[in-house]
Amino acid sequence: MKDTKKFEVIIIGGSYAGLSAAMALGRSLRKVLVIDGGLPCNIQTPHSHNFLTQDGKTPKEISTIAKQQVEKYETVQFYNGLADTATRTANGFEIATDTGDKFTSGKLIIATGIKDIMPNIKGFAECWGISIIHCPYCHGYEYRKQNTAIVANGARVFHIASLVNNLTEKITVLTAGNTDLDQEQMEKLNKHHIKIIEKNISEYEHNKGHIQNVVFDDGSKMSFDVAYAAIPFAQHSNIPLTLGCELTEDGYIKIDAFQKTTIEGVYACGDNSNMMRSVANAVYSGNLAGAMVNSELTKEQF
Ligand SMILES: Cc1cc2nc3c(=O)[nH]c(=O)nc-3n(C[C@H](O)[C@H](O)[C@H](O)COP(=O)(O)OP(=O)(O)OC[C@H]3O[C@@H](n4cnc5c(N)ncnc54)[C@H](O)[C@@H]3O)c2cc1C
Repeated sequence: MKDTKKFEVIIIGGSYAGLSAAMALGRSLRKVLVIDGGLPCNIQTPHSHNFLTQDGKTPKEISTIAKQQVEKYETVQFYNGLADTATRTANGFEIATDTGDKFTSGKLIIATGIKDIMPNIKGFAECWGISIIHCPYCHGYEYRKQNTAIVANGARVFHIASLVNNLTEKITVLTAGNTDLDQEQMEKLNKHHIKIIEKNISEYEHNKGHIQNVVFDDGSKMSFDVAYAAIPFAQHSNIPLTLGCELTEDGYIKIDAFQKTTIEGVYACGDNSNMMRSVANAVYSGNLAGAMVNSELTKEQF
């Protein structure tokens, strides 16, 4: 067994949310360890948008600047690897990594993001973040006025179609099975000349992640420039659950208005606890989590 090392705060996940929390804590001279697996969810997207001052930069450029700025704070340390388990101790938490290192802290911030669960359809994973996108705010502008598919059903498709309709008039909804839109929603889509195709999709033909055609299971094809897809997700880490943190009905870590989970001493920030998925929100919620944890430590120690 390797040495146990002691910190005031351990942050699991060192992407936008985790680094933002680390900056707030580092600036308060808190002894912090950031444990990071180095695989943010937007890794495949060529350019990140809609984050003020960094619009159009690559995801890596943004996280590199962020890490360089946090590294200036000497009380913040970094560990490359995965946090595997967390256990309660008399004074807080013990985190074990997947290679057997152990660290303890009084407080824990979970900034592990979410894992997108890709459908098992040829070409989908290769196009994810390039021409199959999850959010009009992140990439919709770049695909304005282009031939657009929305791959979803029910309330979700209706919501995305209403947003994307402001960006392009060339929209086709692919429900991949019988549509479950109600009459009123169907009428609205018709009013905006949005076609609905119910055929199942068997492949996304693409060139280096750029969609060319959607191929249906009857062999027919339609060409598109971009597809919006709503796909399911899972939490990246079991640690919140093993500590007893409650999840919401949608699968997010339940937090209060100050990023605090349902378990004392455990905070969460970023995508794992927020359906408004963006770099800006991850940075905001990490900043808030860092400040709230510092405030809790201050109350305990002052
Ligand atoms: C394809 C795609 C494109 C996007 N484009 C944009 C865009 O253009 N603009 C925008 O604002 N937003 C965009 N987003 C959303 C944005 O990327 C996320 O909201 C943001 O990355 C969330 O930050 P986070 O820190 O919560 O999680 P992530 O950035 O996903 O990082 C989570 C980190 O935690 C680590 N981790 C997970 N589990 C463990 C563990 N057990 N131990 C240690 N480390 C762990 C991971 O390795 C990773 O480094 C995009 C998302 C996707 C999926």
